[in-house]
Amino acid sequence: MIDSRFGIQGIGMTSARTRNRLVQRLKDQGIRSTAVLDQIRDVPRHLFVDEALASRAYEDTALPIGLGQTISQPYVVARMTEALLDGFDGDSVLEIGTGCGYQTAMLAPLVKKIYTVERIAELLKKTRRRLHRLDIYNVQFRPGDGWEGWPKYAPYDGIIVTAAAPEFPEKLLEQLAPGGRMVIPVGPSGCQELTLVTRKKDYFKKVSLGAVSFVPLVPG
Ligand code: SAH
Repeated sequence: MIDSRFGIQGIGMTSARTRNRLVQRLKDQGIRSTAVLDQIRDVPRHLFVDEALASRAYEDTALPIGLGQTISQPYVVARMTEALLDGFDGDSVLEIGTGCGYQTAMLAPLVKKIYTVERIAELLKKTRRRLHRLDIYNVQFRPGDGWEGWPKYAPYDGIIVTAAAPEFPEKLLEQLAPGGRMVIPVGPSGCQELTLVTRKKDYFKKVSLGAVSFVPLVPG
């Protein structure tokens, strides 16, 4: 069924073979969730980057998407999605840093509802259109500052932050439901720790998932 929605038969660098190679690579690197690996195979990543970069869309690498932003590396997207959903119990996920929407598209069929916040309104508009073209409708979009979260629909059963914060954003911790899970890169530019935060009865449990490098979660 790959790409049948777009009338493309998956030729050349976007072919099933190329995608399966990426899936195998992520498996070799320890991604275990079948649901996540299926999504890595099925989400047409080449439609999230400029045409000039489409031939590189199934390499395990971050790519520039314009406006100084990047599409995250597939391994990191897979790792974050797997960590968020392992033991996830609930309906709603808040995503900070929509970008081109690749992470959003990965997650959309695996949860009931996503609320996503992006500070660059122009980028968000394009992404909303892209996700609708992919028949993804369980996402609500908001241009705004991710440091504030999205109080209106809080608390969230899951929060996923795809830009790096120097420290844990207070408002996001507040908007995490009891028992909820948050995946967030925390630390100085160029050297952050991907962290899983679980909200326990009266404290936040934090577990490191390894080093990553994200663009910064811009203040304000
Ligand atoms: N999730 C994307 C990667 C996003 S890159 C993917 O799947 O590829 C990080 C994004 O966070 C950028 O689009 C950037 O504009 C956005 N961002 C940075 N600071 C922000 C803030 N304070 N609030 C909301 N979005 C922010």
